[in-house]
Amino acid sequence: MTAGREFSTFEVYDPATGRAVGSYPAQSAADVDATVAAAHDASAWWGALGFAERRRRLDAWRGEIARGRAELAEIIHTEMGKPISDAKLEIAMALEHLKWAAGNAESVLGRRSVSPGLLAINQEATVEYRPFGVVGVIGPWNYPVFTPMGSLSFALAAGNAVVFKPSEYATGTGVWLADAFAAVVPEHPVLSVVTGLAETGAALCRSAVGKIGFTGSTATGKRVMAACAENLTPVLMECGGKDALIVDVDADLDAAADAAVWGGLSNAGQTCLAVERVYVHADVYDRFVATLVAAARGISAGGGDSKIGPITMLEQIEVIRRHIDDAISRGATALLGGPQTVDRQFVQPTILVDVPEDSAAVTEETFGPTLTVAKVRDMDEAIERVNASEYALGATVFARRNGRRIADRIRAGGTSINAFVAHATIPTLPLGGVGSSGFGRVHGPDGLKEFTYAKATTRQRFASPLALTTFARSAAIDTVVDRLVAVLHGRTR
Ligand code: NAD
Repeated sequence: MTAGREFSTFEVYDPATGRAVGSYPAQSAADVDATVAAAHDASAWWGALGFAERRRRLDAWRGEIARGRAELAEIIHTEMGKPISDAKLEIAMALEHLKWAAGNAESVLGRRSVSPGLLAINQEATVEYRPFGVVGVIGPWNYPVFTPMGSLSFALAAGNAVVFKPSEYATGTGVWLADAFAAVVPEHPVLSVVTGLAETGAALCRSAVGKIGFTGSTATGKRVMAACAENLTPVLMECGGKDALIVDVDADLDAAADAAVWGGLSNAGQTCLAVERVYVHADVYDRFVATLVAAARGISAGGGDSKIGPITMLEQIEVIRRHIDDAISRGATALLGGPQTVDRQFVQPTILVDVPEDSAAVTEETFGPTLTVAKVRDMDEAIERVNASEYALGATVFARRNGRRIADRIRAGGTSINAFVAHATIPTLPLGGVGSSGFGRVHGPDGLKEFTYAKATTRQRFASPLALTTFARSAAIDTVVDRLVAVLHGRTR
């Protein structure tokens, strides 16, 4: 610490006990700028290593994380509260994506030849995807490994250095990941962490990074974009959601109820892709609701062996309460839970029916263990209601005959048929949103390209008999071009 300089810290608390589990510096804009400057030097080295050596290092990082998974899961658990087994599952999924990114970066991003077309037949044309240099990654707390790793793995595999600002609710998790990386890449600070609250994140947005990969709420995302606009820094926006699950008349109701319970209640509902709304065909509505409520009755929030943990942020408890209170005051019924279950950090599952479609519980992200269930006359009505949301991150469809047809009409970054969020776990598929859920993609080839810019290069192989871009172009050449245009394009109707 420099003498005379202001220095502040912040604490991370275990949400289940309120006990402080870590203390970190709230880094200033000057700290962030210094970290980004060091990362620029590191990025030149990391970029020059090439795909094969980067793959070797990223594979070694994967091994470090895998071997340290018990310790990492414990940190996740104490920082944001999810059960250890869920934390391990999150780590397992993140490792699959890391493996894919490292193993496929060269084939997706490496230089390749493309056809130059008839008028440029004398040119050799290549395209490649180049790293920005330094990428800033701002992460949330709800999946403090899986979510930021969706940016970190792909940005690093693409050849960027990364400065990572983990959530102030899960800072130890971010520090652990960066320490594990430094163990296999000790030469330069290729992946560094800056710790702090909103101000530190805002400073990262204003620093000399080539791109920001942001995951968090839609409201914060707008502030991040505004800060990035000052330097025309491009952004990836992975924001909030209000995902729905649709149950068609011929669906496997047990499987659909199981998916709705897990999708809505796991991680205490604090999942961007959580099922928050369920739309059920009228002919199977009663049976589905009975199955759903029976399945959800077995789930409770608490410590120890409970299937779901605490609500991580105290302020969120008020949001959950407001959504439930508002729905009930407007005629909804709680078939399970209700306002009385929202009195402490452990919020018990709530299932609401007859909720007006314009109430907060249906239109806003609740981020708690709640589900609204609505009866629809047919799948047209279900799709219309699903697509009415300003959010469009993911969706789940349960149907035997028409699953694909229904899925194709849903406006969302991804849809899983007869399974909950399968699309987010498959490394070759992109993940991201539309509308208020954001833009840009992590995972798969799109996720690699997200952290690069496309670079086009041509090399003239021989002088063209049709020299076009010169004042020496003759009238004869103009005539040839004119005829070519007529033949190549003038006959299309
Ligand atoms: P948040 O928006 O409160 O914070 C996210 C990050 O942004 C934190 O690191 C925070 O410190 C930082 N931040 C806050 N203000 C900032 C500012 N002005 N400038 C720069 N950075 C700033 O979100 P959260 O509560 O940590 O996470 C929950 C939200 O994240 C939910 O809305 C959830 O849906 C969303 N989420 C989305 C995805 C996805 O893939 N789309 C994944 C996980 C979470």
